[in-house]
Amino acid sequence: MKEVDLHMHSTHSDGTMSPRELVAYAEKKKLRAIAVSDHDTLSHIRGTLCAGEASSVEVIAAIEVSADFSPGTMHILGYFVDAENEELFEMLERFREGRAIRNPQIIEKLNNAGMAITYDEVLREAGGQSVGRPHIATVMVKKGFVRTTQDAFEQYLKKGALAYVDRLRFNSEEIIRVIHNAGGLAFLAHPKQLLIASVAELEALVEKLIAQGLDGIEVYSSSHNKRERKIYANIAEKYSLLVSGGSDFHGTHKNGIDMGFLGTGVKLSYDVVEKMKAALAKRSNS
Ligand code: AMP
Ligand code: ZN
Ligand code: FE
Ligand code: FE
Repeated sequence: MKEVDLHMHSTHSDGTMSPRELVAYAEKKKLRAIAVSDHDTLSHIRGTLCAGEASSVEVIAAIEVSADFSPGTMHILGYFVDAENEELFEMLERFREGRAIRNPQIIEKLNNAGMAITYDEVLREAGGQSVGRPHIATVMVKKGFVRTTQDAFEQYLKKGALAYVDRLRFNSEEIIRVIHNAGGLAFLAHPKQLLIASVAELEALVEKLIAQGLDGIEVYSSSHNKRERKIYANIAEKYSLLVSGGSDFHGTHKNGIDMGFLGTGVKLSYDVVEKMKAALAKRSNS
């Protein structure tokens, strides 16, 4: 079977491999298609598509953006977006401005907690356009304040922790609309991270998102267990949503998760990509 991995990050946001390195790694892993879904930027798209053309791997232009939500986090994936779309570019630019305000505030809190870290060190660690908490976590590890990036999140950076600061987010309706206007499909990423307690509540949210135009749901993710996969697959079926899946590979910024790993024993076939393309073709005909 030809497998796919439709969620990962490059050096343009908080992954540690460049677009070229991701494509070469996917080729080595014999993946048929990958979607590189950097946070809040379009700067990775041209390079990943180019690298894909010169390889055996099909590359899908994608992004991942954070919507306003609690108790957990809501991430929306946009697949097949137009990298030249102005409205999308402007929305993502505002997200990046929000990061530029939030990141120094996190660093100040860490400084107050006795950790000598500078914004410059974090920017150097990031290198790309979209700077975030995984870069801060990596600097914390390199300077010996925590053992792993996971520890940095658990002790300091996760929602509600000592050095957590929220950043500008838009509502899901606006994000879905902009993704659609840029020619893309909007998917709810890793629903587990919403931290919704019951299936009924999750279904109510999915119904609301469908009314806003949601196209699909990331049923398979390295963060989902078997029971969760079953719940999300049932929801996809019940509401006729498209299905996707991905590793959320970040290189060494997220330890222990390799490209192509979508959960133990899970393999996702290229069929899901064909269904996405069929949905897009249907939309452009109607
Ligand atoms: P930011 O975009 O700067 O708010 O950082 C969000 C990113 O941090 C996510 O995309 C994840 O890659 C990572 N992240 C968020 N929460 C955790 C966590 N509890 N443990 C490890 N990584 C996390
Ligand atoms: Zn990330
Ligand atoms: Fe995410
Ligand atoms: Fe991600």
